[in-house]
Amino acid sequence: MDRITIENLQVYAHHGVLPEETVLGQRFLVTAVLELETRPAGRTDDLELSVNYAVVSEKITAFLQKNTFRLIESAAEQLAEYLLLEFPLLHGITLTIKKPWAPVGLPLDTVSVSISRQWHTAYVALGSNMGDKESYLNEAVAFLQNEKTIRVQKVSDYLVTKPYGVLDQDDFLNGCLQLQTLLIPQELLELLQRAEQAANRQRLRHWGPRTLDLDILFYDDQIVWEPNLVIPHPEIPKRTFVLEPMVQIAPYFVHPILRKTMRELLETLSAKNTDNQ
Ligand code: ADP
Ligand code: MG
Repeated sequence: MDRITIENLQVYAHHGVLPEETVLGQRFLVTAVLELETRPAGRTDDLELSVNYAVVSEKITAFLQKNTFRLIESAAEQLAEYLLLEFPLLHGITLTIKKPWAPVGLPLDTVSVSISRQWHTAYVALGSNMGDKESYLNEAVAFLQNEKTIRVQKVSDYLVTKPYGVLDQDDFLNGCLQLQTLLIPQELLELLQRAEQAANRQRLRHWGPRTLDLDILFYDDQIVWEPNLVIPHPEIPKRTFVLEPMVQIAPYFVHPILRKTMRELLETLSAKNTDNQ
């Protein structure tokens, strides 16, 4: 992606752990590498189609002077999120905050923290098979739309599915959505679990009835193998109720491990199911 760089913007502010830092303040140097597509602005010469670096510089200055952080790690983290929320054309940012006057008492040039943050694309599966299923799914979508670090981009139709695994229970209503998020995968999982709890989800038995089930299907093309989180969701190629809504919202999305599009995975699964009948 293209980049616009603001280098060593000087901001006098009061971040730090020591009293002299918070009382007297000191000079900070901020370097911001803004990631965005500059081509639309480049071809039209229209500032509206780009991110105005003067405005970004002003916002960085105001933000660092209005808020006080003990750590430059926090200053960088909060500032990155603030800028990514503030400028819709900004896809990502690398921020470096330097403290040239860090009170270390030893000869050094600067101390700095550097972080890269960006919007990620994730796909989430929605399911319910208890009570007013459609409302539970709609409430889950609304819950996510309310989060400032989430932008819901596409929601599939909901589809009625026969139960899977445990068969003596009500039909499921299933769907998928595409979102953009600033959250990392574990934070997204935590948020989805909060949404499930908000729907009063009762987990009586594994694969049994539930008011709301939210699973992360994909997160960019990342592969995650953690004890409580596996991405891509391992059941995707076996589940028509996931692949059908995925084909509706992202037919050509390529499974990062299987290297097949959603459409291809659904075709393979349908063929297999027909063979078994
Ligand atoms: P299931 O979704 O398999 O029907 P649950 O919703 O009860 O069952 O989830 C069980 C656990 O699965 C969760 O506590 C969560 O930690 C874990 N898990 C692993 N990978 C994922 C994922 N990609 N999305 C959601 N949960 C996941
Ligand atoms: Mg689940």
